[in-house]
Amino acid sequence: MTSDEKLSLDPADWDQFRAAAHRLLDACVDRLAASRDQPWRPVPEEIRAGYQISDDAGGLSHDALVDWIEQSVLPYGTGNTHPRFFGWVHGTGLAEGLLSELAAATINANCGGRDHGMIYLERAVVDWARRQMGFPETASGLLVAGTSQATLVALTAARLRAVGQDVRRKGHGAARLRAYAGAGTHNCVVKALEVMGLGSEALCRIPDDGNHGMAPDTLRRQIAEDRAAGWQPFVIVGTAGSVNFGHFDPLDQLATVARDEGLWFHVDGAFGAWLRLAGAPWHDLTDGIARADSLACDFHKWMYVPYDCGLCLIADEAEHRAAFAARPDYLAGMASGLASGEPWFCDYGIDLSRGNRALKVWSALRVHGRQALGAAITENCRAAARMAALVSAIPDMALARPVVSNICVFTADATLPASGQSALNKEIAQRLQLSGEVVFSTTTAPLDVGDVVCLRAAITNHRTRPEDVKASLAAIVAARQDISRF
Ligand SMILES: *Cc1c(COP(=O)(O)O)cnc(C)c1O
Repeated sequence: MTSDEKLSLDPADWDQFRAAAHRLLDACVDRLAASRDQPWRPVPEEIRAGYQISDDAGGLSHDALVDWIEQSVLPYGTGNTHPRFFGWVHGTGLAEGLLSELAAATINANCGGRDHGMIYLERAVVDWARRQMGFPETASGLLVAGTSQATLVALTAARLRAVGQDVRRKGHGAARLRAYAGAGTHNCVVKALEVMGLGSEALCRIPDDGNHGMAPDTLRRQIAEDRAAGWQPFVIVGTAGSVNFGHFDPLDQLATVARDEGLWFHVDGAFGAWLRLAGAPWHDLTDGIARADSLACDFHKWMYVPYDCGLCLIADEAEHRAAFAARPDYLAGMASGLASGEPWFCDYGIDLSRGNRALKVWSALRVHGRQALGAAITENCRAAARMAALVSAIPDMALARPVVSNICVFTADATLPASGQSALNKEIAQRLQLSGEVVFSTTTAPLDVGDVVCLRAAITNHRTRPEDVKASLAAIVAARQDISRF
């Protein structure tokens, strides 16, 4: 080996590297094809110990690295690739993601800006999403880590509209800005307000109108009261698909309130926005989304694209740019060459250096198309309805809420007092996660007997079949019987 080769961080032998890479690719494809056999499992102590990196680490061959990835990485994910994973809101990941990430890591493009292929790819993805959501041609957008970051980007633009461009130099000063959202709003809205320095008390939660989301009349009254009390209302956040129960705010009515009151209208559509692609009756739940000033949603949940990939859309590019554009000398653009290619994505958000998230979305769209993706989303809603029907038919089980989209929340034994139901539901969730039969998460629902920790399924899983829903309920019945024996 020459001294140059010893210094290089590249593989010394590309043929050996190629053989190792092929072996890993086979292992990854095997893993994907076997999604049905691979639920979540706890990480054994000896595997966890193997994750440590000692100070003198180094010297692992690519062959040994591939062996280690097969044994210590591939089996120990969250389990959301499995057809009976219903916990939280986890997407499953499409096989095209594997191909896309391979290529993305190879070219290692920085998508902060400049003139290269991956910028055009991201623009195409944003434009496709813009059309699905009915946003105007003046809209702009970018891919981000997830809805949490997209929410921060959108609310930052909303604040600038309310207090003016000076906010970037001086902050919002003494303005007592207030945001409005429904009772079921996600905590990412609270976090965004905290990060912006507005504080969580800037969020006013408007109670739900039964199962129909935020009540517009209550919202109007609250805005008037707050104005009288010295607050400066700046944004209404509508939720398309609440995380707890999958409820939808009446987006069209909220858009009208926002227009009448001169406020920014933002929609958190993390998963629910994609009902735009679904069939009746679910599609209509998102009516009015096109009237929003901004939208935050995820490709990594209900579009089944691998983590991470969220989207922020802003209806008016000028307002988007006003909130984030900044070009210090070292980022000056040019008329031609690599430093051309305006607009740059770094002018639309927080990150300067950005990875390639677009290719995995582009691949999903070009391979499957909106029809097939919409059909999978529709099928998930049917699966939740099926689950609800089974729950209602099993003696003593009861739904906590009617199912409106893809989320089914229920208790395994409604005859117990609240504390007994909570204990039972928590025990069942843990047992079934550990046994690898099915992953439910839990949430607390106010029921007639009091607050009850319930079992919760959010079905954003393109692998779930009707048999999986049946088997999951059967597993709960068996666990309930087993627990009552002690
Ligand atoms: C998951 C979720 C979020 C947060 O999105 P991330 O992609 O996890 O950052 C926000 N709102 C709703 C309704 C969600 O389900």
